[in-house]
Amino acid sequence: MSTRGPCVIAICKEKSSNWKTVTEHVISKGQTNNTLPNYVQLGDTICLNCYNGIVTRSSAIFLQHAQVNVERSEVEVENVNDLERSEVENVIDLEQSEQLGC
Ligand SMILES: [Zn+2]
Repeated sequence: MSTRGPCVIAICKEKSSNWKTVTEHVISKGQTNNTLPNYVQLGDTICLNCYNGIVTRSSAIFLQHAQVNVERSEVEVENVNDLERSEVENVIDLEQSEQLGC
């Protein structure tokens, strides 16, 4: 059996050429360690490097990466309006300061 990449992990350094399939063991260890990014699914392919970071070592990088993903998907909807508003305000400020500068 030959499992092959690419690795699904977004922050993967791609230094490993040994591949692992995401099993229920990986999911449950990752959830226990809080190192499992929420886009990783059963049957996905990850490299041994990422496997170790998630399952064996619960590396700080993966801990952070998994949490960034969770925060982003929760906050996304609320912040869209604020973002758009501040962009519009910036444009108006620019136009006004150009006119004043003449
Ligand atoms: Zn990887």
